[in-house]
Amino acid sequence: MKAKQIVLATRPIGVPKFEDFRFEEVNVGSPQKGEVMLQPLYVSVDPYMRGRMSDSKSYVPPFELGQPIVGGIVSTVVESNSDLFKKGDTVHGLLPWATTCIVSEKEISKTFPGISPSYHLGIVGMPGLTAYFGLTDICRPKEGETVVVSGAAGAVGTVVGQIAKIKGCRVVGIAGTQEKVELLRNSFGYDEVINYKTEDVEEMLDKYCPNGIDCYYDNVGGNITDYVIQRFNRYARMALCGQISLYNSTDIPMGPRILPAILKTSSLIKGFIVRDYMDRFPEAINQLSIWVNEGQLNYKETIVEGFDNIPKAFIGLFKGSNEGKMIVKI
Ligand code: NDP
Repeated sequence: MKAKQIVLATRPIGVPKFEDFRFEEVNVGSPQKGEVMLQPLYVSVDPYMRGRMSDSKSYVPPFELGQPIVGGIVSTVVESNSDLFKKGDTVHGLLPWATTCIVSEKEISKTFPGISPSYHLGIVGMPGLTAYFGLTDICRPKEGETVVVSGAAGAVGTVVGQIAKIKGCRVVGIAGTQEKVELLRNSFGYDEVINYKTEDVEEMLDKYCPNGIDCYYDNVGGNITDYVIQRFNRYARMALCGQISLYNSTDIPMGPRILPAILKTSSLIKGFIVRDYMDRFPEAINQLSIWVNEGQLNYKETIVEGFDNIPKAFIGLFKGSNEGKMIVKI
């Protein structure tokens, strides 16, 4: 059987381009004992994958040139030589960008019954878990505190803001379009939202956070983060989740010295990778599923259609093309 796959053709310099990816046709055999043949239903594109496209040292090894990109995918089992999975099962795992593939049964898990398959790539998957642990374990927001979230309208940010509201906080988001500002206010419970592309972020932070900032959930870094940190209250907590504004930088931009502000306020900045919390994933999946089923967590996906559009969807993350979780439906 023939399949199409997408490999990393070159390591991107700056913002990834279509030419950094290559489509290839490959032959796929039959599953051996303990293996299954899969076809994708939903493919997740995530900002962290940009890091794996470079060859710098990180918490995961880089993608290899000429090899298929691997990411979160929900698939159907189309043929099984495994005792654990049967034809027709819906499964998820870290899988290659390919129209058909054969993997070991150890690489996949069944999706949860009663939860929409694509949600395993978002709200009850890696982004939801990231939101949950960064906020509840690092920021530890208390009722009445002010929580600021950058990258607020994305997969992680939409969940962070809602959990902060469940915890009784005042929540201020930062996002890049007026549509996202309205969405966060109207559908995700954000009290105030700043459009960082059209508004003076410092002025608006002063306006919307008159009592200072107690918690900061950072998805973007750069200037926005420099401005937020200058407004920290005593014992502020910052979950350093992402730095998307710097992922495509070809040099290391210098910002103002922020450490005096941390010192003066006895604040905490903690970087984390969601995998740090792997032993607590069941707790978070359970809690997120309860909130989703109770209607306490709203959820939004931007769905791009078609296998060939996976690179376009991925590149779109760096242009702000998504509201909520960016997903490719195959
Ligand atoms: P999003 O769904 O938020 O998508 C990316 C968004 O980032 C875009 O829509 C865009 O929104 C914003 N963005 C893009 N470029 C810039 C820029 N230069 N400056 C400011 N904002 C920008 O992605 P996720 O929710 O999946 O991830 C959010 C962050 O969390 C990322 O940095 C990611 O790497 C990180 N992350 C970290 C994990 C961890 O374990 N620590 C795990 C998962 C994610 P806008 O229109 O608002 O600009």
